[in-house]
Amino acid sequence: MAKSVYTFGGGAVHDDPRAKDKTIVGGKGANLAEMAGIGLPVPPGFTITTEECVSYLQQGADFSAALRAEVAEALTHIERAVGKKFGDADPSGAGPLLVSVRSGARVSMPGMMDTVLNLGLNDATVQGLAATSGDERFAWDSYRRFIQMYSDVVLGLDHGLFEEALEIAKEDHGYLSDTEMLAEDWQELVAEYKRLAEGELGHPFPQDVTEQLWGAIRAVFDSWDSDRAKVYRRLNDIPGDWGTAVNVQAMVFGNMGDTSATGVAFTRDPATGERSYYGEWLVNAQGEDVVAGIRTPQYLTRDARLAAKAELPSMEEAMPEAYAELAAVFDLLERHYRDMQDIEFTVERGKLWMLQTRSGKRTAKAALRMAVDMVGEGLIDEVTAIRRVDPMALDQLLHPMLDPDAPRDVLTTALPASPGAASGKIVLDSDLAEKWANNGDKVILVRVETSPEDIHGMHAAQGILTARGGMTSHAAVVARGMGRPCVSGAAAVSIDMGARSLKIGDRALKEGDLITLDGSTGQVMAGLVPMIEPELAGDFGTLMQWADKHRRMKVRTNAETPEDCRMALAFGAEGIGLCRTEHMFFDAGRIMAVREMILADDEAGRRRALAKLLPEQRADFVEIFTAMAGLPCTIRLLDPPLHEFLPQRDEEFAELAADVGVSVEHLKRRAEELHEFNPMLGHRGCRLGITFPEIYEMQARAIFEAACAVSSKGGDPVVPEVMIPLVATRKELEILRSLVDRVAAEVFAEQGRTLEYLVGTMIELPRAALMAGEIAEEARFFSFGTNDLTQTTLGVSRDDAGRFLAPYVEQGIYPRDPFVTLDVDGVGQLVRLAAERGRATRPDIKLGICGEHGGDPASIRFCEEVGLDYVSASPYRVPIARLAAAQAALG
Ligand code: PEP
Ligand code: MG
Repeated sequence: MAKSVYTFGGGAVHDDPRAKDKTIVGGKGANLAEMAGIGLPVPPGFTITTEECVSYLQQGADFSAALRAEVAEALTHIERAVGKKFGDADPSGAGPLLVSVRSGARVSMPGMMDTVLNLGLNDATVQGLAATSGDERFAWDSYRRFIQMYSDVVLGLDHGLFEEALEIAKEDHGYLSDTEMLAEDWQELVAEYKRLAEGELGHPFPQDVTEQLWGAIRAVFDSWDSDRAKVYRRLNDIPGDWGTAVNVQAMVFGNMGDTSATGVAFTRDPATGERSYYGEWLVNAQGEDVVAGIRTPQYLTRDARLAAKAELPSMEEAMPEAYAELAAVFDLLERHYRDMQDIEFTVERGKLWMLQTRSGKRTAKAALRMAVDMVGEGLIDEVTAIRRVDPMALDQLLHPMLDPDAPRDVLTTALPASPGAASGKIVLDSDLAEKWANNGDKVILVRVETSPEDIHGMHAAQGILTARGGMTSHAAVVARGMGRPCVSGAAAVSIDMGARSLKIGDRALKEGDLITLDGSTGQVMAGLVPMIEPELAGDFGTLMQWADKHRRMKVRTNAETPEDCRMALAFGAEGIGLCRTEHMFFDAGRIMAVREMILADDEAGRRRALAKLLPEQRADFVEIFTAMAGLPCTIRLLDPPLHEFLPQRDEEFAELAADVGVSVEHLKRRAEELHEFNPMLGHRGCRLGITFPEIYEMQARAIFEAACAVSSKGGDPVVPEVMIPLVATRKELEILRSLVDRVAAEVFAEQGRTLEYLVGTMIELPRAALMAGEIAEEARFFSFGTNDLTQTTLGVSRDDAGRFLAPYVEQGIYPRDPFVTLDVDGVGQLVRLAAERGRATRPDIKLGICGEHGGDPASIRFCEEVGLDYVSASPYRVPIARLAAAQAALG
């Protein structure tokens, strides 16, 4: 039978591969075992598997005798390794073994689950700890920390209760900070804490160390299903059935005086990717003190301290030996894992201990730089570099940054915790941030410090500003992971929650006021600051070049303005996959002619209005074809229901009536006649072309005249791809293809030149997919319109889904929003089938996708599997698609 508990450190060896398998022992457990294996100083411990968590959460039953026996045996392993006994109260012995109990899922979920430190302390063992450490104060401080943490995490008591008691104790003694508390003060506080706990619980605080241990194990398992963990999993696509492992490890103490310390570090700068050790530490502090943001941490290296003009010494200066050992560990770990590592360490009376290592979270900028640098350093190859960058993370780099030349009204400058710039309305709590963002407002979440409960507010916000906390505070780590700009440790910020207002320095602001953050410099500015376009050369350009070498599918863009075309080309687009011509109809200069066309009583009236639109539409295409310089351009003929263009307000009706010379009443009657009950399934797409052929004639003429004009100027020959939307039958396409062919022949005869062109269709209705074999007889290309194909296959309105989709995804009815990530199981079948049937009829048929899924990495993977020729995405998502297509091709 497979084991449920694996020991590590203290000489533990296993030939069972499960002992280092992240899916079994979690990421933290696997890495602790790995580090111990390569000879790094890891306090001994053991890991209870994720499988035990899953079965505990499913069955809710008590733990089996078999598991209890395995845990007892593993505890003996730790006892033997450190030479102390769990629950040992003998003051003349070696001292009691104390352990930490921590979560550790397959992937790291920073701060989302629970931890208990100093477990094993009670009224008797605290005496033993005092005697063996020779430090009464330390022993009683440890005990009160344990009661506080255990009461909060395991017993569910309000931690505010204990904090209040501590504040009162300090006030009574006239102390300003915790460091002034003496041994006897902590001892008194422990008594008070126990009284408080007993009052709340109705029974005494647990003294039995074994009971303490199982309580903590249970709490860690339970924390897998805490609200914040669930939100984090949803945002990061982490399945709920993975469960977390539990790591029980001998405690080492960073709070045993001035030769002890605790810290967190990255082997490279996680914000910029620069190859410099980067971290924070605190002298005489325990575990969570660094990340909790209560004391402002010190710098790791002398250079970093000097650059920040900080007064307290760096670790390099204060503890040169431990620092040198740590630096050697950094190098070893990078060479071993071939990736940047995020490390937790403790120095106990001069001795370095490694508590954790994992592949570090990083900004997109840092991810790019590290991937490119590590190829240069020979640590990894190009393919690994391509695989290592999350395509969606590129989004962070592709968005505008603050214009360096714009004036800035700087309110304060604090820590640059997560790069990028953001402007928005100040909002002081996470629920309100979410509410305002849902109403379409851009918000900046401003908090004293964030906790894992703020995750929804951070996600809803454009950026985050915190008054406390360092570069590794919760706010900083989570913001970097989410790609939100963040400025932390802004001591000049003071918040008055009661008045919903704040001061930054001496400037008074209130909730709703606009501010701008620059997470790359740490600046906080009043009002909005103009932004500029991002830099696309450098590491970004290098990685993109590598990706381009390895991808098979082309990447086009969905664009209809010359600006969008230029932007997309700069991002590397290789053509237009979808030009939605209707967007050109909304232009202020043209909407009157469009309305006149729609509301005309007869064909003659429509043709009069269309004649006004022709030169405009032709000019659009001239610009687009010129910008795209010979690259393929798919132009879709008019698609949406006509009523979308109709006047809404009385003044608009009046203006149009005067323009066309008919009465307002007449126009309103015509508009009513156009009303549809179900416009998405109504008079739209190719149905417009069938019933009002003159509309498609005008558009086809504009396309061919423009193509001739651009080609005659000696530009690269344009090969227009004319696309007919919402086709369901071969006959529809046959009629409209002949219409386009006829117009092309007319234009070529008039212009005295012939150009190549293609006519094809969108596959966006289930019937079209099923009948693709027949439709391909008329179509030179298919473009999968997966927005409509999803809508019509699922019978879910893409415009109304927002009202009910969230619970659908939460309950796992759909694994993801099917309008964001293609429903491969359902809609995907239709795509696959249409591709096969289309190719069977016409082996050289061009196949692409132009729905929103064309910019979504998971959907792109599917497109590669089906063998599409290209994907098409909005301009900002073109680089994402390039990288995702390369990753898909690499498999
Ligand atoms: C589609 O339906 O997928 C598509 C690209 O067209 P539109 O979004 O314009 O309906
Ligand atoms: Mg569509």
